[in-house]
Amino acid sequence: MTPRNSEQKLAVLKDRKVLALSILEEGLDLIVLHFDNQLSDAQYDALWNVTIQVSRSRAKNNLGRCKYLYDKQEPGAREKRNWTLLGSKINIDWDMGNHSWEEEFRDTVLHELAHHMCGVLHGLSRDIKGHGIEWKQCAEFLGCRPQSIQHRR
Ligand SMILES: [Zn+2]
Repeated sequence: MTPRNSEQKLAVLKDRKVLALSILEEGLDLIVLHFDNQLSDAQYDALWNVTIQVSRSRAKNNLGRCKYLYDKQEPGAREKRNWTLLGSKINIDWDMGNHSWEEEFRDTVLHELAHHMCGVLHGLSRDIKGHGIEWKQCAEFLGCRPQSIQHRR
């Protein structure tokens, strides 16, 4: 459905928020099912400390973002950037265009969740690259394309 007026746009936005949340929860369940025994209490808390926003404003070149939350006061943080992840804020662009948007939307939510998962499992060391091997493993685990290309329109 192509939204034609603001009322329809709001309805679509609401649907996509619900959809985003269900994809996120599905992914979190999958992670817990497989990694439960390997997670420390802090990692477990961080895993569930994730919010997802579906934004109406269209950011340039971004379908989604995952912002890490961490404690900058942690000792040695400045030198090593080896922070412990506290949680993440995920933002998804609501407008994926009309062509096969559902696939794109799902893939984008899982792509950003893979960033969160990677941060939980591996921490925020400088050695862990944004779309490096650790992230790719998370992306493959969650079943999204292990590519960074979807950050661009
Ligand atoms: Zn990414």
